[in-house]
Amino acid sequence: MFRSSKNAECVIILSILLFLHPIGVDNAPASNTTKEPMKSLDSEWAKDISQQAKAAEIHAMLNTKVDPCIDFYQYACGNWYRHHPAQLFNHLITDRFQLIASAFDRRLQLVLSEPRGHDVVETKLKDFYHACKLVEKDEVRYKVALQRIYQEFGKLPMLDGEDWKSEEFSWWESVAKIQHKYGKQIILAVDIMADIVNNTGNKVYIGPPDFSISSGIKILSTLQEITTVQHMKRFFGIEETKGTKITKELIAFERALVRGGSDSRKGLTLHDLLSLKSVGELRKMYNESLDLAKFLQLALGAERVPDYIYIYDEKYLNSVVKIIAETPPHVVANYILWQMVQPYIVDVKKGNMAKWCVERTKKYFGKFVDYMIYQRYKDPDVEKEVYDMWNEVREVFRSELRGNKLDWIINSTRDYALQKLDAMKLYINSYESENFTAEYVDIELTRNNYVENLQKILQRESSRKLQRQNGPVVPLEAPEVFTFTPVYNVLENNIKIPVALLQPRYFWGAHYPQALKYATLGYLIAHEMVHGFDDDGRNYDKLGNLRNWWDEKSTYQFEERRKCFQAQYHKYRYDGHQLRNDVSQAENIADNAGVKLAYEAYQRWLNAQRSANVTGIERSETFSQLHFNNEQLFFIAFAQLWCDDVQSFFRTALAISDSHAPGMYRVIGSLSNFQEFSWVFKCGQDAPMDPEFKCSLY
Ligand SMILES: [Zn+2]
Repeated sequence: MFRSSKNAECVIILSILLFLHPIGVDNAPASNTTKEPMKSLDSEWAKDISQQAKAAEIHAMLNTKVDPCIDFYQYACGNWYRHHPAQLFNHLITDRFQLIASAFDRRLQLVLSEPRGHDVVETKLKDFYHACKLVEKDEVRYKVALQRIYQEFGKLPMLDGEDWKSEEFSWWESVAKIQHKYGKQIILAVDIMADIVNNTGNKVYIGPPDFSISSGIKILSTLQEITTVQHMKRFFGIEETKGTKITKELIAFERALVRGGSDSRKGLTLHDLLSLKSVGELRKMYNESLDLAKFLQLALGAERVPDYIYIYDEKYLNSVVKIIAETPPHVVANYILWQMVQPYIVDVKKGNMAKWCVERTKKYFGKFVDYMIYQRYKDPDVEKEVYDMWNEVREVFRSELRGNKLDWIINSTRDYALQKLDAMKLYINSYESENFTAEYVDIELTRNNYVENLQKILQRESSRKLQRQNGPVVPLEAPEVFTFTPVYNVLENNIKIPVALLQPRYFWGAHYPQALKYATLGYLIAHEMVHGFDDDGRNYDKLGNLRNWWDEKSTYQFEERRKCFQAQYHKYRYDGHQLRNDVSQAENIADNAGVKLAYEAYQRWLNAQRSANVTGIERSETFSQLHFNNEQLFFIAFAQLWCDDVQSFFRTALAISDSHAPGMYRVIGSLSNFQEFSWVFKCGQDAPMDPEFKCSLY
């Protein structure tokens, strides 16, 4: 419904990617597929090889024909596309987080392919994976199972034609019943989560579901149209002309729904969009067209519904009622039942089934997958590095909040910011304390029926969610979503580090210069930390409750600085289009402050080494194969985190659909605001990477 957590990477694009191209291409170094942490890397010989490999990798991405002071992204990433061409690999986009994801998937696939599970839960996971792979071999059985899915909720106009009776169909009753049983949120999403203003109790929320498509992005709706027509033909035998007509109706209906909601670009916060309403009042508002009390009874499966619920985006709710009144009922019915079967659709090219099933396993057993991989590959040294880095980065921000640099924030507000920072926690998502055996005890899966297995899983997820009505408090958007970058959750005031990020030698390694670790891990952690203080995060207190703790004067100053970023990034052009003129600058604020804080942490570490007279520090902080000093390496490693290659037809969509700037501007935007960068690269006064006027917040 809405996101309370943020991560450094582009989740939207990743999910689109998984939807269209679920398969990663094996293009990461083979050394990363090893099963055990490589302790043998301690030998001098291995150290040398590992350093040489990293230096070669950094060098291979550079385009040294470009002046770093003119376009640092092109300088650092100019040759990425030659080594990771999106088109050739059949991806919409290639980037470094994808390499991490593929490496993680390969590990998971190895585990899933082992004949026996270590315990009962692992065995269930392997049964699920096995049944998934079988779909390819028995498509007839699969299609029959697919038909049964929607038949539970009535007839489907696109298939049953004349047999379908509009008078027997109530859109909101169907939506409520489907959501109750299988948790699939269609048109109206109901959630039970922590109360936004007092997170010691739960509340019911109603709002728009996550739509499969964002409004107005032409290339994505074209792709969606093509795949939908294909699915209708392949799985339901609907011929192409008819399929195209129905698909157009479905997309137009969904687009109308999306347009009916508030525009996410206007920077409306949760505070602006949420309203607490009495169910009695709502019942009167929509009376015959949508009986909200009855709707809630069906969706929650409860005789008594709460007196008050949160409406997320009232504008959306009002439009839904209007749009449905204006849409032919058969279109609405087609839409609802088509949405309902979506989770079961297996759309994968021959030969890619195993990798696709790895993705599904991650999707439905996310926490357990993290736990399982963590148990097999954990490395205490890497973990210590993460926690140490967190402490160092936090200490830098702490002293900035105490010092003169942030004197535009008045003292009382700074005092509370410090309290919030102290209360912030960082975890590794290893789920070691979870009792998975108890969690999965009530679910029986077979080794040969994927659709039935999935149905059971979804049913179980839904009933667990409904138990929250009387159960313990659940944070909004509990971190069940699989990501490969750290995530900050505003409502819990904490940062979670995914297990996938702990894989060694992607960004930093034991024998690389520490500059690389600060520029990648340090920056990623600092970025998430700053989300607690960006234009959205600053509206939440140290306990994660929505509460204003900023004084008026500092708020005004904050706004002025935020506007500076808004203007700066809106001027950037990507694929001929200006970047969005977003009121919300959270990601740019986090990028800009994140790299500065990480750099400062690195400088502190370096000074400590120098004062302790640690021998060989200057040499160990550089690569003998590369002609860069340690500070230059820091900036190159930071920039190379964002190297990407995007297929040309997809560039516009990327620029307008994501709240994160495209990779090149994450580099150019934040480094051109950072004076130290241009000193390190000795940029001239008028260099594009060193403009006279710089935006700055933290
Ligand atoms: Zn972020």
